[in-house]
Amino acid sequence: MYTVAQLIGGVWGAGGEGGELVVHDPANGSPVSSAPVATADEVGKAVEAARGAAAEWAVTAPAERAAVLHQAADAVAAVADELARATTAEMGKPLADARGGVEAGIGTLRQYAELAPVRGGRTLHGAHHALDFMVPQPRGVVAAITPWNDPVAVSCGLLGAALVTGNVVLYKPSERAPATGWLLARALDSALPAGVLSLLTGGPEVGAALAAQTVDVVAHVGSTGTGRAIAAAAARSGAKVLLENGGSDPLIIDADVDPVWAAGQAAIGAFANAGQICVAVERIYVHRDVAEDFVDALVERAEALRMGPGGDPATELGPLVDRRHRDHVHGQVTAAVAEGARIRTGGGLPDGPGSFYPATVLTDCRHDTPLVREETFGPVAPVVVVDSFSEALRCAADSPYGLAATVLTGSMSHAHRAWRELPVGTVKVNAVFGGAPGGAAHPRRGSGHGFGYGPELLDEFTATKAVHIEAPGGGHW
Ligand code: NAD
Repeated sequence: MYTVAQLIGGVWGAGGEGGELVVHDPANGSPVSSAPVATADEVGKAVEAARGAAAEWAVTAPAERAAVLHQAADAVAAVADELARATTAEMGKPLADARGGVEAGIGTLRQYAELAPVRGGRTLHGAHHALDFMVPQPRGVVAAITPWNDPVAVSCGLLGAALVTGNVVLYKPSERAPATGWLLARALDSALPAGVLSLLTGGPEVGAALAAQTVDVVAHVGSTGTGRAIAAAAARSGAKVLLENGGSDPLIIDADVDPVWAAGQAAIGAFANAGQICVAVERIYVHRDVAEDFVDALVERAEALRMGPGGDPATELGPLVDRRHRDHVHGQVTAAVAEGARIRTGGGLPDGPGSFYPATVLTDCRHDTPLVREETFGPVAPVVVVDSFSEALRCAADSPYGLAATVLTGSMSHAHRAWRELPVGTVKVNAVFGGAPGGAAHPRRGSGHGFGYGPELLDEFTATKAVHIEAPGGGHW
């Protein structure tokens, strides 16, 4: 059992007067971690203490900050296995996936340590006797509020970019993965000057108290509803907001693709991490010509998945994060069935402990079914049959979200139409996951307004200043 401690003003174990929260293993219900809950007063004091440490870190040479981040990445790598185990114990994903998330996080920290010192500003061509330039400066105090579904990778993205650009950070990990956040913060803090990183734990109320503070940036990765509440709070405080929020990513299957191969892609996209990935496939538009064979193959893939505890190496489908979330997923499935959708496989609550939910395929879905329009965040594949590629594109584009989309097609002109026309941050053609290193996009609509976890995130955590210098009296230096 992990006993989490907060880090406030460089002191581990500070605060926690708001009570205690306990996280249970979603595979068997046994307690995994206990974490203190910060009070609003503690949150205020933590922000004040962080601001006190901001000036010195801001003037630390960028190369020195980068060296510190490299050391921090080494410290995270030294506890990588423990971080992966804590992730699996707290939120249930298969251990191999959890290891992948930790490795991705370490890679991101190193990426930012390499890139930050070489990203400068710009000199301008002004009057001959003057000097004009634009220089990025740290924004100051950053609140980083993160989710549970890929806790290390996401946190390393926000924390790495914010810290290496000279900001101090108040980190509030998800209440569903506090020990993972604590282990990560401990490793990072071991390399950082005292006070540069703070850790506050607790639930939504702690996140809300943090977002209400006078900080310079609130970076939130999580659900769209939370992102909107944070944006409203930031509008009052004047903080900049960076939001990476929910999605309902479409998968389009064109008439000319092999339906069995397409089913393999759909299964990976919809069922990996039990569908708890922001860019999971949430709705499928399949051309009528291949629909029947596609659905048969998808049902076969869904039924072949081995469901079990994330700690078991044979497991392909772990539990959902908790029963509250399972109720949400199951509620959406049952509502869709009540509206005429047909369960082809899954869709039932398994007996026994934990919060398992089977890989589920639904046909006879309509584009306007809430299960299709809203984010489900579970291992559920709703299939809508369409009569043309244009109809599929139209449905895919008609969404309150705009994170990513995948198109499976043998037609180059359809591929080009897709990336040009879909109002989403990322378009993938013929591969449901993947992409070159450093790729980043602006999400659209309800999916937020950040810049992913690529090099551009460094710019988001700095403020650019324009400088114009002349010699006194209009002379020359
Ligand atoms: P969530 O928004 O409920 O919680 C995320 C964090 O926000 C937690 O730390 C939580 O305590 C905090 N929080 C909750 N209410 C708050 C409030 N009113 N003010 C301030 N903070 C508050 O999201 P979740 O359930 O942890 O994560 C799942 C969601 O995250 C899904 O919608 C998923 O799509 C999204 N997600 C998006 C990305 C991306 O890059 N776009 C990545 C991962 C997850």
